[in-house]
Amino acid sequence: MNLSEIKPGCSGVIKSIGSEGHLRRRIVDMGLTVGTCVEVVRYAPFGDPIEINIHGYNLSIRKSEAEKIDVFENNKEYEQFLRNTKNNSEIKEKRVVPLLSDPPSNAGGMKVALIGNPNSGKTTLFNNLTGSYQYVGNWPGVTVERKEGKIKNINEDVTLVDLPGIYSLSPYSPEEIITRQYILEENPDLIINILDATNLERGLYLTTQLLELDLPIIAVLNMEDLLFGKGKIIDYKKLEKSLGIPIIPISASKNKGLDSLVFRISSVFKSGKKSRSIVNIYSEEIENSLKEIDRIVNNDKNYVKNNRFKIIKVFEDDIYVTESLKISLENLKKIDAIRQTLSRKMGKESDMIIPDERYNYICLLCDKVIKNIKNKNVCTFTGQADKILTGKYTAFPSFILFIFSIFYITFGPIGSYLKTFCEEFINGNTYSTMSRILEYFGASGWCKSLVLDAIIGGVGSVISFLPQVILLFVLLSFLEDCGYMARAAFIMDKPFRHIGLSGKAFVPLIMGFGCSVPAIMSTKILENKKDKNLAIFLIPFMSCSAKMPVYLLFASAFFPKHQALVIFSLYAIGILVAIFTAWLFKDNLFKGKDSPFIMEMPDYKFPSLKNVWLSVWDKVKDFIERAGTVILLATVVVWVLQSFNFNFEFVYDNSQSMLANLGGFIAPVFNICGFGNWQASVSLITGIMAKESIVSTLSVLHGADNSAELSEFLKSSFSVCSAISFMVFSLLYTPCIAALSALHKEFHSFKLTFISVVYQLFVAYLFSALTFQILSLIFNCLNL
Ligand code: GDP
Ligand code: MG
Repeated sequence: MNLSEIKPGCSGVIKSIGSEGHLRRRIVDMGLTVGTCVEVVRYAPFGDPIEINIHGYNLSIRKSEAEKIDVFENNKEYEQFLRNTKNNSEIKEKRVVPLLSDPPSNAGGMKVALIGNPNSGKTTLFNNLTGSYQYVGNWPGVTVERKEGKIKNINEDVTLVDLPGIYSLSPYSPEEIITRQYILEENPDLIINILDATNLERGLYLTTQLLELDLPIIAVLNMEDLLFGKGKIIDYKKLEKSLGIPIIPISASKNKGLDSLVFRISSVFKSGKKSRSIVNIYSEEIENSLKEIDRIVNNDKNYVKNNRFKIIKVFEDDIYVTESLKISLENLKKIDAIRQTLSRKMGKESDMIIPDERYNYICLLCDKVIKNIKNKNVCTFTGQADKILTGKYTAFPSFILFIFSIFYITFGPIGSYLKTFCEEFINGNTYSTMSRILEYFGASGWCKSLVLDAIIGGVGSVISFLPQVILLFVLLSFLEDCGYMARAAFIMDKPFRHIGLSGKAFVPLIMGFGCSVPAIMSTKILENKKDKNLAIFLIPFMSCSAKMPVYLLFASAFFPKHQALVIFSLYAIGILVAIFTAWLFKDNLFKGKDSPFIMEMPDYKFPSLKNVWLSVWDKVKDFIERAGTVILLATVVVWVLQSFNFNFEFVYDNSQSMLANLGGFIAPVFNICGFGNWQASVSLITGIMAKESIVSTLSVLHGADNSAELSEFLKSSFSVCSAISFMVFSLLYTPCIAALSALHKEFHSFKLTFISVVYQLFVAYLFSALTFQILSLIFNCLNL
């Protein structure tokens, strides 16, 4: 019997794991070891993936992977298995060997690395300790690059490094490699191992590996505030004694316990020499094998940094370590023989020996230090909410409801009201005040035109869309911080596989609705190169918030009563084009094996308002900065080019200007799309700098003082059909420079960047031409 055959609500005990390579490693690292009890919680709406519960936390895994995990048919079989395998029945005392390590290597200051599982609160702690504003979200894979900052409120010079979350020190996905390389190559002076106190067993799996390094560690048990609600009490003193490292309970988001953490860091700094400990959790048989390997690898050399860690990794056949140690083929064979002998002796597959021992140790340790004060079967909020949000018949309706509500709130009455309010402020107050000031100083015609038309008219027209952009960001980050994104990935995995992606790609794609740059960067959470490249290729079709001002401008001019519907359709077209693109390229340009899908399902949390605010503020700041720099520059350049002719004489009729001539040159290309006027072509070119520039450029070129005036001008230069086709082109064509550079950076390939730009231009041109021609035909037939 295998795991996929267990019915929801029933459980089984793992007998063997049939997967191979990386996937097998990942499955084991996530806690699915032989002898572990697994409960099947539910199937996704399409029957795949499956949500399971192990070691007290929920995980989703694909059916195809679950099929390879055998479980015991009945209790008898399991009891027989227990009799055959030797188990550690107690934690041996004297596991802790205190040692003294080197004083801080960097004379000036100390480097402290934050290491922990994804979603354990590293970034929240980092932000609170350093006063930074890094991005936080309740789903695994938010931090994909390392971030550094100085710890505040401490006299010493301590640099804290926030690293991507990892489950184990066997690198699996690219961001896990970043973290491991940092630990092994950059020699931090201290590791702060952050653990989710509500999920201690899984966190300790990483701790047992960190303890094998030659580095001092402080363990921080975060989310202490949630512990009581979960019905658990942890005996910190006992845990401290067993692990031999300081344990500090904190609540990063509530700012509790941080003082004692800072004090501890400071005292490590002051003491110069830092104590560390080795916890020997393995049986004597294993220790003997490790000693043998040590002799082969090191040839009795005196001291090698992180030796114990490396030897264990060699035993585990970690290819990165065996390569870095340059072990000869002959020695590798000897090591394999040691491994096989031990495997036979213990009656376990060789790659299961170390993880099994670790989990055995952790289970016994947790039994000793965690006290459950609540009945385990009490329904939790997460359990209840997931019945609806991932339930067979309710998952998709609630998903659609969420997305629809976001659109309705952003683009419907609430968003429109806020926009009008902001517009009135800019037009009414700013415009008239500035105009009076200029009048007072007797400014010349061109100066007035520059300030009023270009700066206030152009940049102001972009700024007036800010309230709606903020609203969209608030709602998206609310969904992210509450933990819904992991559920969306869970229910979308099966449909996504038809287009060659894994459900995990859902998160970067939906982030693309905010801004393509962080969305492209977050594709690092995808382990598989094919998945990653395909997701990057598709993200530009997810309409980013900078394109919103363009849609809003045209929709309010041409479809004042159906704005939300028009904009919703544009987003839908973007998604459909992305699906089509994925289907087109999945078996050629991006061919490769399907990636596994094993993902943690975090508990729902009430979004921290501070986190939502930080994430929104970060993007809003970016929006305003862009308005004040790139967009302002583009607007002024456009204004200069459209106010002067080639003899640098100020022209009152801009059809005589340099820009009209240049734009007129390109414009005919767009005749087939219905917007072959030079103003439209020029605005699309400036749109490559920043999408909002399309609006500011149109505003300057039409000499409009506000968006109402601009709407009137647009009605004279566009028809309903050409307006729609223009919006379609803006939606699909090449993203802005910043997104292009992120795209190139993540692709690591000029060829792919080039193909993607050419494809985007081609698709935009094709679709907008088709839209215009088909709509014109329909309008003609209907005599509209
Ligand atoms: P990271 O992935 O380890 O960087 O984790 P984040 O800092 O992004 O936090 C993950 C989630 O846990 C976010 O939703 C945080 O708001 C939440 N969180 C972090 N620390 C705490 C805490 O002490 N208590 C509670 N209740 N939530 C927390
Ligand atoms: Mg993080």
